[in-house]
Amino acid sequence: MSDQGFLDLINGLYIVAAILFILGLKYLGSPRTARKGNRLSALGMLIAIVATLVSRDIIEYEWIAIGIAIGAVIGIVIARTVKMTAMPQMVAVLNGFGGAASALVAAAELIRSVDLGDVPLDVAIIALFSTVLGALTLTGSLIAFGKLQGIVTSRAVLLPLRNVVNALILIAIIGLSAWLVVEPNQPEIFLAVGLLSVLLGVLLVIPIGGADMPVVISLLNSYSGIAAAAAGVVLQNNILIIAGALVGASGLILTRIMTKAMNRSLANVIFGGFGATATVADAAGTPGERPYRSATAEDVAMILGYSQSVMFVPGYGLAVAQAQHAVKELAGLLQDRGISVKYAIHPVAGRMPGHMNVLLAEADVPYEQLLDLDQSNPEFVRTDVAVVIGANDVTNPAARTDPESPIYGMPILDVDKARAVIVLKRSMATGFSGIDNDLFYLDNTSMFFGDAKSSVSDLVTELRQLD
Ligand code: NDP
Repeated sequence: MSDQGFLDLINGLYIVAAILFILGLKYLGSPRTARKGNRLSALGMLIAIVATLVSRDIIEYEWIAIGIAIGAVIGIVIARTVKMTAMPQMVAVLNGFGGAASALVAAAELIRSVDLGDVPLDVAIIALFSTVLGALTLTGSLIAFGKLQGIVTSRAVLLPLRNVVNALILIAIIGLSAWLVVEPNQPEIFLAVGLLSVLLGVLLVIPIGGADMPVVISLLNSYSGIAAAAAGVVLQNNILIIAGALVGASGLILTRIMTKAMNRSLANVIFGGFGATATVADAAGTPGERPYRSATAEDVAMILGYSQSVMFVPGYGLAVAQAQHAVKELAGLLQDRGISVKYAIHPVAGRMPGHMNVLLAEADVPYEQLLDLDQSNPEFVRTDVAVVIGANDVTNPAARTDPESPIYGMPILDVDKARAVIVLKRSMATGFSGIDNDLFYLDNTSMFFGDAKSSVSDLVTELRQLD
């Protein structure tokens, strides 16, 4: 085959891979088609990797083979051992390594150009951009990992003058990079740019509270994609540009969806210091001080057993308790009694996007029973019993009714509109936002205290004994 023909073949394969990536992303948009989306994207990646490996630019395969072997072993171990609740921190680490890879590739390309004595202006600018973004993505992601894993304090650490210091570091990075573009052969300045970027990654993420990490991870995911796209421009590799741009765009869209569902701006997440103190909780009153009603497993089983429609509302506590299989069993018993069962899923219930969908899919809950925010809210008025399982903030009516509430304006599930509400949680404690929940004190609400898994299992036992 001629050189041109071979190049056309490689680019053709890249286009096929790009189409598979885009289709994969589309299918990942719904739990029903997500598995198919994953498989299509993986196939696209396989095609992209094989096309890159057979392209004639590669001279030696030894290092690549070693890298693939080590990476494959690590990937298999991680996929088999990481718990579902630890998924956000795993994504954080993988993002970070993606950023580091782009930074190393771009830096290597820049160093190679310097050695050849010819550094085109565009290569210098884009390689430096990729190095800076990739390096700060690495350390930012590692801090995010540390916060979620409990290695680094999950509190928002608010250093004095932090925004000024960060701005000065950024200005220094831009200034030194500009100097490098003009005078590329300065290894110590290049090293300084790298080190400052690494430091900036740490300083940008340290002031953000642990519970906001999923938003940060999604944003850093977007950064790693942009760094990869820039590395693709430096290497003139089309598929890297396309894949990087897709990751960059989808990360940004996901970040936007999450901040919108929390009714917070991205600036508030990054600079707001949410989670530094208990002032939010103080402002909203002490939980459990107002009168509330509590119920036993027997009471709840009676209410459920004689209802006609039940809506389960899962939240973070369901994930902590791993109660999804027990809930599926309970739903089965209710359905056997002719009761309609559905699940209302809030977009930011839990601690990562799609958290509830993943858990319920694991328990084989049929997709058609899952309703999103817009579908479920009109249903609550027609629902006999809403069973809130380890959810808190996403059900707080203060978001609708109390302009003073810190979560005022956040779209919530209108659980309070159901005829009866049963809340399964261990205590009257607050959720992620640290504010008391007005839902717990309404006349139609009963609290059923206990770990969600054992509470649901008790309900299963009680329901089996019912007539
Ligand atoms: P919340 O964090 O509001 O509340 C979870 C509740 O679960 C707690 O009040 C806790 O009460 C209860 N709980 C914990 N462990 C158990 C257990 N073992 N058994 C029973 N209950 C338990 O969760 P939501 O899902 O309602 O809301 C998610 C929050 O996280 C929102 O504020 C959202 O903005 C935020 N967030 C979500 C992200 C996402 O991507 N999904 C990302 C970042 C933030 P108790 O201790 O009394 O049991």
